[in-house]
Amino acid sequence: MKSDIRVCADWEREHDRPVYTLASTCPDCGGEAVNSAPAPFSPEDSYGEYRRSLKRRRRE
Ligand SMILES: [Zn+2]
Repeated sequence: MKSDIRVCADWEREHDRPVYTLASTCPDCGGEAVNSAPAPFSPEDSYGEYRRSLKRRRRE
């Protein structure tokens, strides 16, 4: 699935928090907005492992 959500490229300098937008420019500062998910990450895998380790820890 391709995400069209972009984030202000300069949000760390311009804003307190990431500014997300569907446009190619930041609605707040007018700067460039870049794809918010450049790195692939699999929430299911890492999250599942995280939950499993939590559960394991709780049981001990
Ligand atoms: Zn901005």
